[in-house]
Amino acid sequence: MQIQLADFIRGTPEGRAAEAIVRKCVHCGFCTATCPTYQLLGDELDSPRGRIYLIKQALEGAPVTARTRLHLDRCLTCRACETTCPSGVQYGRLADIGRKVLEARTTRSTWENLQRGALAYVLPRPALFGALLGLGRLARPFLPRALRETVPARIEPAGERPPARHRRRVLTLAGCVQPALAPAINAAAARVLDRIGISLVEVPGAGCCGALRFHLNRQEAGLADMRALIDRWWPFIERDAVEGIALTASGCGATIEDYAHLLEHDPDYRHKAARIALLAKDLCELVAAEAPAFERLLAQRAPRRVPLRVAFQSPCSLQHGLKITGIVEGLLERSGHVLTPVAEAHLCCGSAGSYSILQPEISRQLRARKLAALASGEPEVIATANIGCLAHLQGGAATPVRHWIQLLDDALQE
Ligand code: SF4
Ligand code: SF4
Repeated sequence: MQIQLADFIRGTPEGRAAEAIVRKCVHCGFCTATCPTYQLLGDELDSPRGRIYLIKQALEGAPVTARTRLHLDRCLTCRACETTCPSGVQYGRLADIGRKVLEARTTRSTWENLQRGALAYVLPRPALFGALLGLGRLARPFLPRALRETVPARIEPAGERPPARHRRRVLTLAGCVQPALAPAINAAAARVLDRIGISLVEVPGAGCCGALRFHLNRQEAGLADMRALIDRWWPFIERDAVEGIALTASGCGATIEDYAHLLEHDPDYRHKAARIALLAKDLCELVAAEAPAFERLLAQRAPRRVPLRVAFQSPCSLQHGLKITGIVEGLLERSGHVLTPVAEAHLCCGSAGSYSILQPEISRQLRARKLAALASGEPEVIATANIGCLAHLQGGAATPVRHWIQLLDDALQE
């Protein structure tokens, strides 16, 4: 696709990046087949190809309206289109640039600003989010249905957490909403790794990876969160106190993998960001790399009498962002669980960070579609790899939803 950048962006790093991406798009439309919003709404402007065209027009200086921005707001940034695109169009990066331009050139209503401002303030603050979640749980029976679905009825206790006793250590991230919504995830990860001979280290004060505010179009605030996290982690990396970073939320992992790109123009942080992006792995990659130790442990335990039937929901951040497929499924099968078939596994569940709150209608429709696909094989449990998907699916599921590491932890219990 041809593009003639307008003066306001020509010659800037963002302009050059956007131009290169737009020029790669050959307008073939293959991506529309896997785009969840196009599948639901059937409007070309709610497809990747349509959105690329809207962004191109905005970058060429054409007038933009709240309607133009709405088509980008409706995009889940699931990146299914990137997986499908035969030309290697990096849609996610282009969407970041387009959104920044549209945000600056359009005005949101007071309600939208308040809603987005509240999310950007509360979500990256674990203590505040935890306190509000506690109040929400007390008030849960009295909340309207839509709001009640966002507040979990039960939060699994974390259980015992082993001390950091091994020479081999990896960093992990507590995250912003995960400590309050699902403290059992990192505790289960710590127990599984401890049995393999690796200690999981959480650095106090290391909170949000930056994705939340970045994707709320507060890109500078998101970058500030990224720098703050790097500052917390760097002393451990600099003195080789850890051998890597293992993320238990694939959403954080996909963002951190992108740090090298996101901070490439910051001379103070680009080298640290590149190092951290290289060290960061999804937890499943680390456990799979330790497969012999994992299998020895499994062999020492009595075989499960009743293997659980598990439907695995592969988050977009795992399959489209990190391009990881099959690893979690393999680990679940090796630990004795039986995977049930899941149709349309490439489609987003509608969680997408704060999307479920900002675009509730589309989000609920996608969740219903995903839950129907997950339920078709009659699983006893749904497993996922990302806290956002877990909380979102839990709000509508009749079947328990857990992180896959909790199922491995169960399989390894004495
Ligand atoms: S599949 Fe790729 S090249 Fe084809 S229209 Fe979509 S983004 Fe453009
Ligand atoms: S990121 Fe997802 S929702 Fe957005 S255009 Fe691509 S496939 Fe569609």
